[in-house]
Amino acid sequence: MSFRLTILGTSSALPTSDRYPTAHVLNVHERLFLIDCGEGTQMQMRRYRIRFGKINHIFISHLHGDHFFGLYPLLSSFNLMGRKSPLNIYAPAPFEEMLARHLKDFDIKLGFELITHGLSGRSMKLILDDKRVQVFSFPLKHRVKTFGYLFREKEKERKIIKECVTRHKLSISEIALLKSGADIVRESGEVIINAEMTTLPPPGVSYAFCSDTAFFPKLASYVAGVNMLYHEATFGDDHETLARQTGHSTARHAAVVAREAGAGRLLLGHFSARYKSPVQLEEEARQVFPASEAAREGETYDI
Ligand SMILES: [Zn+2]
Ligand SMILES: [Zn+2]
Repeated sequence: MSFRLTILGTSSALPTSDRYPTAHVLNVHERLFLIDCGEGTQMQMRRYRIRFGKINHIFISHLHGDHFFGLYPLLSSFNLMGRKSPLNIYAPAPFEEMLARHLKDFDIKLGFELITHGLSGRSMKLILDDKRVQVFSFPLKHRVKTFGYLFREKEKERKIIKECVTRHKLSISEIALLKSGADIVRESGEVIINAEMTTLPPPGVSYAFCSDTAFFPKLASYVAGVNMLYHEATFGDDHETLARQTGHSTARHAAVVAREAGAGRLLLGHFSARYKSPVQLEEEARQVFPASEAAREGETYDI
């Protein structure tokens, strides 16, 4: 069982010699979700051994190149690798037209189905309801239409108290019923009460992705109680004005969102190339929200 995040890029619009643009891979029980796809994403996927064939859903926050330019070559590689399974892409409209134009211009005929989901609206929306996880989109505040994503693991099954299995000689189908929360009525009339046989399941975990955005107070309500919050921190306190002018956040802004949301941990990223190291940004965030850290490329975080 896993719910873990691998960071493939921590740079903002201008990549550096050791930082790639934004791309994250969230592994939810071996379903891989690619979140943003900046230039070089597929090279980073190879470097950090991300299995291409396990990606069936790609979520793009907005149509700025540092979050999108890696998608075209990735689609081309999927094709060359003989992909057959459908691929879902979620992004703000009008990315469908951009994608169609690109495929036409470069005479690319995909050997797999592309299912596009254009995002719009000003409220939180459920956009994927999978067996194990629900994914929601919510609006951010940037220079173009931009969406954040919330991944929430579905409630797990109840846990069977081990000694009850032998004491009541529970069959496999009875165990499955109890795990789903039902009581059991046997043919003999015996009633087996669920609450006496099981304990509450551990709560599902959650991850929220916020990039790019200026600070706005309502954001905390979209990501309330999340176990891990990723939030862009393009600038430090020294460039707060620039952050406001460009529709971005400082590390301190990100930390305020994490604190107001009651997040478990805060991961910072999307660092401006002017910061050789993100240490300053990490320190400024920790002054507001101690459980803050700068994301590191290639690192995998258990959530
Ligand atoms: Zn960006
Ligand atoms: Zn942007």
